[in-house]
Amino acid sequence: MDSSEQRIKIAVQKTGRLTDHSLDLLERCGLKFTKSKDQLFCYGENMPVDLLLVRDDDIPGLVGDDVCDLGIVGLNIVEEKRQELQHEGRDAMFKQVFELDFGHCRLSLAAPVGTPYEGLESLNNQKIATSYVGILRNYLKKNDVTAEIEYFSGAVEIAPKLGKAQFICDLVSTGSTLDANGLAELEVLLESEAIVIQTLAPLGDDKQALVDRILQRLDGVLQVRESKYIMLHAPRSALAEISELLPGSEVPTVIPLDDINDKVAIHAVCRENVFWETLENLKAAGASSLLVLPVEKMLA
Ligand code: ATP
Ligand code: ZN
Repeated sequence: MDSSEQRIKIAVQKTGRLTDHSLDLLERCGLKFTKSKDQLFCYGENMPVDLLLVRDDDIPGLVGDDVCDLGIVGLNIVEEKRQELQHEGRDAMFKQVFELDFGHCRLSLAAPVGTPYEGLESLNNQKIATSYVGILRNYLKKNDVTAEIEYFSGAVEIAPKLGKAQFICDLVSTGSTLDANGLAELEVLLESEAIVIQTLAPLGDDKQALVDRILQRLDGVLQVRESKYIMLHAPRSALAEISELLPGSEVPTVIPLDDINDKVAIHAVCRENVFWETLENLKAAGASSLLVLPVEKMLA
């Protein structure tokens, strides 16, 4: 078999809000890429894993059509693709495997400040401008609203000013774009963040093993973000109470320190952030010499 068939392709946004985070994440998974001149294709230097740098809108299609095995893209784009496919009576050929906790935004309904609005029924017989026709259509249908959807490929927020629509349905993160255009947010249709999607096409054993390996590393990277390594000293008698207080930890490692006072050192990985309050509670329970360290890598 041609060795190129055993390589994995990951689709990532070429330039945009998700690009830096996505590349950083893959780098943390230990992947190194050679950038080609056209920057569309990046060859994996140290593992048989290559990158395809594309428009975010193309990522669900590329993964669904099995051109790429994995993709990093906003849930908003994935959900839109899913709704469009469903509308055409087709199933999506990709599945969601991880939420990545970046690229947070929401798909919201908005209108110029002062527009009469008393809930979704106010949308009846109105025009709504959006790039998210699939999601909006489904939302209106679910809520028994009949409105006209105007497709806008970009700059949706200016549609009311142009007299093209009374309402818009667009992505919002801080709300500053809405403010700048004199728009008020009325409803949230979808909360979104960047996710990893995987093709549903069967990969064969070798490729599947490689995909699993990448996903396991990704999982490790995501867990490490919040995780802390905590070390402290305590009397053995306080062990049970201290174990209870350690946030999101499994059984801690206990090392005897001095037999006379029966003191022990306790080490634990906490899979949640450790706040000052927790340290104060641990101290009150008898802990001393508390130390909290970041975790560099983790493999469950
Ligand atoms: P492309 O050229 O790849 O099509 P784009 O203009 O569609 O780029 P970006 O603006 O870079 O895309 O946004 C990419 C993704 O970032 C969005 O699909 C969404 O998931 C996320 N995102 C986070 N905050 C925002 C925001 N305030 N506005 C738009 N997208 C946001
Ligand atoms: Zn896009």
